[in-house]
Amino acid sequence: MPSDSIEILRMAVRDVPDFPKKGIVFKDITPVLSDAALFRVSIDLFLERCRGRNIDKIVGIDARGFLFGSAVAYELGVGFIPIRKRGKLPYKAEIAKYSLEYGEAEMEMHIDAIRVGERIVLVDDLLATGGTSAAAAVLIRKAGGHLLEAQFLIELEFLHGRKKLEPTPVTSFLKY
Ligand code: AMP
Repeated sequence: MPSDSIEILRMAVRDVPDFPKKGIVFKDITPVLSDAALFRVSIDLFLERCRGRNIDKIVGIDARGFLFGSAVAYELGVGFIPIRKRGKLPYKAEIAKYSLEYGEAEMEMHIDAIRVGERIVLVDDLLATGGTSAAAAVLIRKAGGHLLEAQFLIELEFLHGRKKLEPTPVTSFLKY
């Protein structure tokens, strides 16, 4: 992917200061989604990293991971698995706890979502502290999935989230 595509995407991501609370600069990806060319460029970045790797399923994280992950799965011709915040999935689910800035939260995945040995790529919009995606990685491995990589459109490098994801390889396209 030419570096100017990355720069065009970078210019489109909108910084929203003090959202959802004071001191957080929220990276708003809705301008990328609403522009047909930019949405395609962003999905193509993920696809380039996925093609030729015999992936069985894409796992996306609630909720913005669904926006990118499902498009990537569709284009690869593989299944899509949602990992959701606790209480949203209708069937039996495995739960993983993770820490937030204050307290704990839980993510869950249906018990029959992944078959043992399936080759999985995890997709989300943004890697911050890594707590959410590390919990997703636990769920994938617990189900017997082979987690090839975690991929993010955006990485906030100063939060060192990829450390929390070790030993999972991490790819991100826009680094801040
Ligand atoms: P974390 O568990 O800290 O890596 O947080 C990751 C999740 O929170 C991702 O699914 C993001 O959608 C969201 N998130 C965290 N920080 C930001 C931010 N500064 N801007 C936008 N989304 C964020």
